[in-house]
Amino acid sequence: MDHKLIIFTDIGDTIIDEGSEVREVPYGVVLRADCIPGAKETMLALYEQGFTIAMVADGLTESFHNTMTQNGLEHIFAAKSISEENGVEKPDWVMFQKALERLGLTENDKGRIIMVGNNLKRDVLGARRFGIRSVLLSWSPRYDMVPSCEEETPDYVISRPEELPELVNRLDALLS
Ligand SMILES: [Mg+2]
Repeated sequence: MDHKLIIFTDIGDTIIDEGSEVREVPYGVVLRADCIPGAKETMLALYEQGFTIAMVADGLTESFHNTMTQNGLEHIFAAKSISEENGVEKPDWVMFQKALERLGLTENDKGRIIMVGNNLKRDVLGARRFGIRSVLLSWSPRYDMVPSCEEETPDYVISRPEELPELVNRLDALLS
């Protein structure tokens, strides 16, 4: 089945548990890390369902390569937009624009894209300014989950990765 909904996703504290990250040196490449409970199974299920998934993440390319490969998720991404390569971080619109372009999409597709992330000031604000909807995963204990302004208010909130497929399929059905 063809799905219309496109999923942009953050990595740190959205798929990977930042608390488990092991680095060579502080702020260096992440050598290994574990997934948030349920995140791997959720992302694999969405991929196997045929959804298009793009990584939109702040960090080092090698870190994402390491952690995604170790956790068996490297193959699920149809495109990647990584801050080290872009020279800017979220909420900068370029982070989202690169993912859009690499998927071969245009401005006209923005209505069918959701950004999934844990950070109000990066993922949610960035998505809002770019003109796409956002899903806040409020699992992480490391960041503030209370919006400080209208622009940081997510369109949807989930507390665990396992809640994502139901939301994704509901939003996808509305597009058909
Ligand atoms: Mg994050």
